Amino acid sequence: MVEKADVVIVGLGPAGSSLAYQLRKSGLKVVGFDIVDWDGIWGKPCGDAIGKHHFEETGMPEPRGEALRNYVKGIDIYSPSEEIRLRVEGEGFIIDRNKYGVSLLKEAQSDGVDVRLRTFVIGPVFRDGRLVGVEYKRLGHGGKDVIEADIIVDATGSSQVLRRKLPSDWPANERLKDVDANLAYRRIVDLDHEIEDYQYIRIYVNQEIAPGGYWWYFPEGPTSVNAGLGVQHGRGYPHPKKIFEEKLLTRPELKGIVRVKSDAGAVVPTRRPANTLVWDNFVGIGDNGFTVNPVHGGGMGYAMSAATFSARRIVEASERGDFTRYGPLWSINLDYNRSIGAKQAALDIFRIYLQTLSNDEIEWGLKLGIVDASKAYNISSEGELEADFSALEKLKIVARGMRRPRLLLKLKTVGDYMKEVKRVYLNYPENPDGLSEWVSKVEDLYARFKRELGVEW
Ligand SMILES: Cc1cc2nc3c(=O)[nH]c(=O)nc-3n(C[C@H](O)[C@H](O)[C@H](O)COP(=O)(O)OP(=O)(O)OC[C@H]3O[C@@H](n4cnc5c(N)ncnc54)[C@H](O)[C@@H]3O)c2cc1C
Repeated sequence: MVEKADVVIVGLGPAGSSLAYQLRKSGLKVVGFDIVDWDGIWGKPCGDAIGKHHFEETGMPEPRGEALRNYVKGIDIYSPSEEIRLRVEGEGFIIDRNKYGVSLLKEAQSDGVDVRLRTFVIGPVFRDGRLVGVEYKRLGHGGKDVIEADIIVDATGSSQVLRRKLPSDWPANERLKDVDANLAYRRIVDLDHEIEDYQYIRIYVNQEIAPGGYWWYFPEGPTSVNAGLGVQHGRGYPHPKKIFEEKLLTRPELKGIVRVKSDAGAVVPTRRPANTLVWDNFVGIGDNGFTVNPVHGGGMGYAMSAATFSARRIVEASERGDFTRYGPLWSINLDYNRSIGAKQAALDIFRIYLQTLSNDEIEWGLKLGIVDASKAYNISSEGELEADFSALEKLKIVARGMRRPRLLLKLKTVGDYMKEVKRVYLNYPENPDGLSEWVSKVEDLYARFKRELGVEW
């Protein structure tokens, strides 16, 4: 007899374990799988930074005790020359991912969620064209097993273990393109001295060090730091680990390392949300459905949001006994895109634009005050660019000496496209019948934008 559950969650990182946590009191039979053991939970390398607002918005528990490494008061963003610093105030945390993730899962487990670790999920199982379950293998045991469920959740991150094996004519089968991702690498180290202003995390925008991304310096406490960088994938840039060793280890901020606690890298999606997070009997959230901030690559908080929306709609789908894309599951797309996805799609426009700028252009833009700290905050929280366009006039005067001044002058065009994309996402189709027309509209907008900027990737 094949085992049967209500919900199967594959992958227990931020997305999957938040969903398990949110479903823990639903009365549904929830089974969660991950290939790792307890010590590998939430093990993907990360900058470990997360805004406080994510907990307020989702009702997920704030990190406490050993799960909280540093209390963050704000972010300092540095220009390429480092002469300009934008200080964006805002509360957040540097967390111990493993301790936080384990505490969520243990609580879910004590409320009845069946957590199965050291279990490798091989792929989806279909019957008569319908997604009915997954096939898996317990590490250290021979043979494979199948479990069936009404809803199968892919929360396997950018490896997209289930999503990429869905039938090719399902719109949910959407893959991550290299150029829409960063390759990131980070090291967590102890230093022999106290870090200045250690409750402010730092982002350094510098296309020569981190092309198509940025490098970061996130103190975990007074004498310990998570430092790393992301570079745009698929463009032939050097591996971020090589850049880290050649260009960051020589920086004064990383002098006096007494211990390396962890070093690792991984892929970070940096694009707008997937065209759909659901299909019949299927939900795909977290990095898997690109529920991330395209500009800074942060994904933990949005994985929690996507999980929170999903939990509510999964319960509704179960009450109605309708697990198709025409039932409550579709509302996961609507909930997500209306509250978060529309901003992220606008930020994806901004991300593409940033990736075309040289250090000179970024420096001038910041020097002339086209974007300041409050506007930087507005861009990241609202996906709206309210640049000081009067400063563009000043730029026209100084632009002559620059290599590609026209790109900075296109800021107004960028703002217009951000608005337009946001509008299209806010009008996400009410049901799956409108999806293909909507997708064509979105793809056309991005293609036009890239043509206008002269982007060929
Ligand atoms: C270097 C770096 C720095 C980052 N910095 C930040 C940051 O500061 N703040 C932030 O918010 N985000 C950051 N991110 C992004 C963040 O790490 C991700 O967005 C987040 O981890 C996504 O969570 P997830 O649950 O979707 O996927 P993942 O964390 O990738 O979890 C997926 C889970 O699925 C499991 N799995 C995969 N395949 C299988 C299988 N076949 N069978 C069973 N289990 C499977 C994995 O073991 C894993 O536990 C960073 C990413 C990187 C790489």
